[in-house]
Amino acid sequence: MQLLEAKLHKIDRHNYRSYSSMRGEYTFVDFDFFIDTVQADPYAPASRVRARRKWALTDLAWLKDQSQDYQRAARDFIARQFADLSQQENGIQIDRPGQVILDRTAVVFDEEGIELRFRINLPADDRKIIAKKAMNLMTFTMPKIIRRSTIARELPIEEMKRHCEAVEDQVALRKQLEENNLLAFVADGSVLPRLAGNVDLPMANAIPFECPAELAIELDAPHKGKIRGMGVPKGITMIVGGGFHGKSTLLNAIESSVYDHIPGDGREYIVTDESATKIRAEDGRCVHNVDLSPYISNLPMGKDTAAFSTQDASGSTSQASWLQESLEAGAKALLIDEDTSASNFMIRDERMQALISKKDEPITPLVDRIALLRDQLDISVLLVMGGSGDYLDVADTVIQMHNYQALDVTAKAKEVIATHPTRRTSEGSEILPLPRTRQLNRAALKTMLEDGKFRIQVKNKTTLRFGRELIDLQALEQIADSSQLYTVGWLWFQLAQGKGWEKQPSKAFENMLNDDWFRTMPHYGDLAKPRAIDVMAVLNRMRKADFK
Ligand code: ADP
Ligand code: MG
Repeated sequence: MQLLEAKLHKIDRHNYRSYSSMRGEYTFVDFDFFIDTVQADPYAPASRVRARRKWALTDLAWLKDQSQDYQRAARDFIARQFADLSQQENGIQIDRPGQVILDRTAVVFDEEGIELRFRINLPADDRKIIAKKAMNLMTFTMPKIIRRSTIARELPIEEMKRHCEAVEDQVALRKQLEENNLLAFVADGSVLPRLAGNVDLPMANAIPFECPAELAIELDAPHKGKIRGMGVPKGITMIVGGGFHGKSTLLNAIESSVYDHIPGDGREYIVTDESATKIRAEDGRCVHNVDLSPYISNLPMGKDTAAFSTQDASGSTSQASWLQESLEAGAKALLIDEDTSASNFMIRDERMQALISKKDEPITPLVDRIALLRDQLDISVLLVMGGSGDYLDVADTVIQMHNYQALDVTAKAKEVIATHPTRRTSEGSEILPLPRTRQLNRAALKTMLEDGKFRIQVKNKTTLRFGRELIDLQALEQIADSSQLYTVGWLWFQLAQGKGWEKQPSKAFENMLNDDWFRTMPHYGDLAKPRAIDVMAVLNRMRKADFK
C-alpha cells in the first residue's frame, strides 16, 4: 500500500497519461492488488485491475470442497455482492450478472484464494491526475468493498448457500431429463412471464404455472427434494392455443432454461436440454456453404442448394440454414415459434398445393420433414403453432395454453385428426441427409487479425465487433449476456492464431469450452461462458467467414 501511495504522490497534477506508471503489483494488508491495464484518458473504458485474497483470510475455504456447479454459483454470488456494494461508488465496476448464473470470470477461485477482477475509473480533474481522489478510491473505498464481498462473516452467507443450492438443484434436474425421455421440465409454481419485453425480471402478480395431470412428473432435487412439474417429452410437441394465451411465454421460459436461474427469478426450477436451440427466420443474414437441399431445391436460375451461400438470405432460406447449422453444431432439440418463423418454411396447405405444383415450389415445408428429423436423426422439436392444424398429424404431444394454463389436449387432437383428416399431400418421404460438417478456412479468420486496429468489442447483446466487422446478432435469443459474446470474440481470436485449431469448428469450440476454459483466456473479468452451439451460431453470421 505504501508503494501505491508513493507512486500516486509522484504523479499528482501530472497529465493523465502518467497514470500508466501505476501498472504493477501492490501488497495490501489482507490482499494483493494488480493494476493490469491503465486507461489512456478519463473517457476510455476504465482500467482493469484484480485483487487476490488468500483462502485463509476468508473463512470460505470450504468452498473448495464443493462441486464445480456450487463453486460457479458462489463465484457468481460474490460478483453480485461486489456489484451491489460498488453501485453507489463512483469509479469501481464489476461485470454484473443478470437473471442467469453463468460461468464468469469476474470472480475466480484457485488453489490459493479468491480473485476479483474489476475495473477502476481513475479520477481526473479535466485531464490532470488527482492523486488524493485516486488514493481515497484505492486505499479506502476499494478495500472496503473487497472485504465485504470476500469474507464469510461479511457476506449474507445463508443467502449465498441458497443461491448455490439452487444451481446444484437445476443441474441435477437437467441431468434427469434424459433418463425420463424429456426435452424440458417446468415445475409447478414457476413464474414464466417477464416484466416487459426488454426486462428479464419476473412479472409481478403473474399466474403461476400449474402442470396438467397427464404430463405431471416428479423429479428429485438434492436440496429442495421432490419437485412436481410438467415434463415436455422428447419427440414432436406442439404448443397450441388462442392468441395471447401464453404460448410464446412458455417457449421463451423453456429456451432460457438451458441456463440456471437465480432464486426468485420464477424459472429456477425450469430446466431444458442444454443443446436445445431456438431457431427463427432472419432474412438478410449471410449463409456459408450450408446444405439446404432437404428443404429447398430447384431455386430459380438453377442456384445450387446443396452448398448454399448468400449474403442476403430470404426468410425461408435463413430458417432452413439455421436448422441445418444447429444440427451440425450438436443440437438435439429445436425450439420454434410461429411468431418468428417464415410461414412458407413452416406450412404449405392443400389449396396452395393445388394451385402451385410441387415442381414450381422450391420449398419443402418443415411439416413434411419434421417426422424424419425425429425418426432418422433423433431430433426433438418443440413448436408453437396456433395458426395451422397441419402439424397435428405428426405431433406426439399437444399442449394447449389457455388463460396462461397448460392443458394436455393430445387425445383431443387425435380425435380431430380422425374427424377432420388432412387433405394435403405429404411432400416428404426420402432419407434425410446428415447436415454437412463444414470446415472453417483459418486463413480468412486470420486475415481479420492483421488489421492494424484489430479489436474485439461488444455492444449490448446484439452486436459483436471482430476486427472491422460488426456482426448483427439480434436474432440470437439464447445469448443471455453480452459477456458471452465477448468470450466468443476471444475464442475466435485463439482459433485464428491456431490454438485449439480443428478444421471442424464446432468440435474445436467444444474442446476450448471445457471446465477450465477461462484459464487460457486473458485475465479479464468480463468473460462469461457461452454454449459451443451459440459460438457457432455467431460465427455463421460473420460475413467474412469462409467455410469449405
Ligand atoms: P401467445 O404467444 O399465446 O400469443 P404470449 O405468450 O405472447 O401469448 O402472452 C401474451 C401476454 O400474456 C404477454 O404479455 C405475457 O406477458 C402475458 N402472460 C403470459 N403468461 C402469463 C401469466 N402466467 N400470467 C400473467 N400474464 C401472462
Ligand atoms: Mg406468440
